[in-house]
Amino acid sequence: MLNIALPRLFRPRNMKNVIEYQIDSSDLSSNFIQIRISFISTKENPVLKIAAWRPGRYTLQNYAANVRDCSASDEKGNSLSIEKTSKNDWQVKVAEGEKITFSYLYYSRQMDAGGCWADEELFYINTIACLMAVDGQEDVSCELKLNVPTSFKIATGMQKQGDVYVADSFIALSDFPMMATPTLNTFKYEVHGIPFYIHSTVDATHYPETLLSDFEKFTIAQIQDFGSFPEKEYHFLLVILPYQHYHGVEHRNSTVICLGPAFDIKEKLYTELIGICSHELYHTWNICKIRPAEMLPYRLFEPNYFKTGFIAEGVTTYLGDYYLGLSQVFTQEWYQNELNILLKRHFYSFGNNHLSLADSSFDLWIDGYDAGIPNRKVSIYVKGAIVALLMDTALRKSTNNATNLRDMMRKLWDSSSSIYKSYTEDSIASLFHELTSNTYINAYNKWIFGLGDLKSDLITAFAYLNIDVKEEVHSNFFARTFGFLCDTNFIVQLVDDASPYITKLGKGDRLLRINSLPLAECVIEELEKLDSMFVDITNGIQTWEVELKRSESLYFMALQVAFKDGLKLFA
Ligand SMILES: [Zn+2]
Repeated sequence: MLNIALPRLFRPRNMKNVIEYQIDSSDLSSNFIQIRISFISTKENPVLKIAAWRPGRYTLQNYAANVRDCSASDEKGNSLSIEKTSKNDWQVKVAEGEKITFSYLYYSRQMDAGGCWADEELFYINTIACLMAVDGQEDVSCELKLNVPTSFKIATGMQKQGDVYVADSFIALSDFPMMATPTLNTFKYEVHGIPFYIHSTVDATHYPETLLSDFEKFTIAQIQDFGSFPEKEYHFLLVILPYQHYHGVEHRNSTVICLGPAFDIKEKLYTELIGICSHELYHTWNICKIRPAEMLPYRLFEPNYFKTGFIAEGVTTYLGDYYLGLSQVFTQEWYQNELNILLKRHFYSFGNNHLSLADSSFDLWIDGYDAGIPNRKVSIYVKGAIVALLMDTALRKSTNNATNLRDMMRKLWDSSSSIYKSYTEDSIASLFHELTSNTYINAYNKWIFGLGDLKSDLITAFAYLNIDVKEEVHSNFFARTFGFLCDTNFIVQLVDDASPYITKLGKGDRLLRINSLPLAECVIEELEKLDSMFVDITNGIQTWEVELKRSESLYFMALQVAFKDGLKLFA
């Protein structure tokens, strides 16, 4: 008798090629959720892996740190051994062709727009943070069963078939956040027949009555500029918190916004709410579909370096606010104030002198979302938005206002018949130079690849836009007089490269006394009258004295604008 072991290359026909996920949120240790992943191994010893980062934040994450109690079993319930093969990888010891269930607990207590949270009243996950992929089977379709208490109402952009949510690949699955709570409130508006849902953890009394009409206005304006909307429906998931918080993350047909405190949403934080929602909606085109070639498709298990963050985040930051002025959700005065806040953030960033916008984009993977060491880099959001304003003005100026940045983005959107439009550093430059008839080649290179705060370029741009501009000093005495900025505890936060004290004090040093008087007892108005003063400073190890002398020089200077009649920006 021949006894040949045949490789199990062919599965019985009735076995569906699908990865099944099940998430349970009840009767577990506090803040843990249970995740079970069932699949047929297409190779011996399959590997389950958790993402190394998430789209929207281009830096490495540590999701594996939230994973506990992994186990695996075969179809008969026999337990299978698991071996960790790298930080984010779990290998199951099993033969090819077996149906496996891999199970683990995921700690869900990170409350921000990219995290996961589970308690008695709220279940909220970013699937990319907590779900593992099966290595080599990332393109297999996925089904997700969510077991939350029956009183919970669920909000997500993921499609449901029967009692399971479905996605056609792990990448698709990983782009649908989910939120569920018994007190979910959903508001709806429609633009061009497309339903937009606003799901909120707090009720309508927390919002002004203009909520829906305001959302409608910026949605209409954005869709009008792109000519079409890439999705069949869209969901704003608003997690409104009792404490101060501000964070949003974009997804293909949804966004999560974490904002608080709740009692401030109706008035003080309303412009923030609308601003962040306009920004995230704009990402539905710009990054979810119009994307750097380096990230098409997203490679979720390794860093995806790219230098064009000024398009992904700079243009989105600039236009996200711009649309609120254009569609008259808020006044031009509001927009002027936003622009002045942006200008301050830009001019108070001395990283302008040390790393270009393109290199700061590449270096997001190092510390792009942290303050980092002093003056190392720029923010792709802040300098990116400044450069977007310069590009917008250049496009208007070189075409006699026939073209602007929104048109350039529309050209990117129309650039391919594919739903995804990829661009590169070179293709963006070519498009911009073509539209501006090669009149900004040197300027563009300086903006994107050079150093500096671009002050003279901004002054020229504002002159064209018919906007008054002047240079203003910082409101803080130490900042404007000596070139260093302290927090309320007199701990140095930031030192201007041009300050004569850059060699005497640095970030983290603390001012103790001025002329022997403890800082808490010093009156700034009195200090302002002095020509010089002796300051005792400590870094926690050494204590030293520095003589601060007033000079003609002023530091922390920022351009500030004032709109006037004949403004060309909204023309
Ligand atoms: Zn963004």
